[in-house]
Amino acid sequence: MKQQIHPDYKKCIVTCACGESFETASLKEELRVEICSQCHPFFTGKQKMIDSGGRVDKFNKRYNK
Ligand SMILES: [Zn+2]
Repeated sequence: MKQQIHPDYKKCIVTCACGESFETASLKEELRVEICSQCHPFFTGKQKMIDSGGRVDKFNKRYNK
């Protein structure tokens, strides 16, 4: 009997709004994201208006006391 742990994962091209694209495995063949590790403020140091929930505020409060 053959074990099938994973569903039908395919190679997936993820395209970010910044123009970056990379490959991953997903159930979809193509994904569009608005943020990736190349343009995420955490990695770039820039701050974008992407967070409406105050997570950035919390982050800042935590680390800039
Ligand atoms: Zn990006």
